[in-house]
Amino acid sequence: MKIGILAVQGAFAEHAAVLGRLDVACKEIRQRGDLEEPLDGLILPGGESTVQGKLLRALGLFEPMREMIQSGLPVLATCAGMILLAGEIEGQGTRYFATMPMTVRRNAYGRQLGSFRVEAEFADAGKIPMTFIRAPYVTRVGEGALTLAKVDGHVVAVRFKNQVALSFHPELDGDLRLHRRFVSMCRERTAQAERQALR
Ligand code: GLN
Repeated sequence: MKIGILAVQGAFAEHAAVLGRLDVACKEIRQRGDLEEPLDGLILPGGESTVQGKLLRALGLFEPMREMIQSGLPVLATCAGMILLAGEIEGQGTRYFATMPMTVRRNAYGRQLGSFRVEAEFADAGKIPMTFIRAPYVTRVGEGALTLAKVDGHVVAVRFKNQVALSFHPELDGDLRLHRRFVSMCRERTAQAERQALR
C-alpha cells in the first residue's frame, strides 16, 4: 500500500505526516520518475494552484498524472488540489486536470475572511473540524458528482467516482477520519483491480 503525494509546492508534508500516523507508506511526487512505482492513491495538497499547475507541466507530471486519475486512481484533493481537479474555474480561462464535473470559485471567501475554522457535518462521518485558508468553494456540482459537505450553504466537499475534493484542510486538524476513509477507498480499488487482473 503506497500513496503518492504531489510534492512540488504547498502543504504536502502535512499530508505525509497524517499518512505516517495511519501507518501508510507514501511517496512524494516531484518528478516523472516518481510515478514509475505502482501507487494505490494520490493526494493533491493545498498551496497555490497556479504555481502547481505550471510546475506540473514544467516537470512533465501533468499528462501521466491526468491519465492515472482518469483511469480511476483514487485522489484526495484539498484546496488548491480541488482547483486542479475542477472542470471549470470561475473567471479564468485556464483549467488543469479538469477531471471532475464541477465549477469552483477561487479565494471564494474574499480577503477579509481569508482563514477560518468551523465544525460541520460531513456525509456519513458526522461533524468534523474544517480549516479554510483562502479556500475555494464549489458553485456548480455537475452530473454524477456528489455533495459531501456544505458550510453556510456553500458546497465545500464533492466526490466524483474515485475523486474526493475538499475546500478545507483535514491534514491540519488532527482528525484522521477523512484520510482513513481515503485509505480504505484506495485499498478497495487496488483489491478490485487485482481481482480484475486475475479474471
Ligand atoms: N488560494 C489558493 C489557490 O487559489 C488555494 C489556497 C490553499 O490551497 N490553501 O490556489
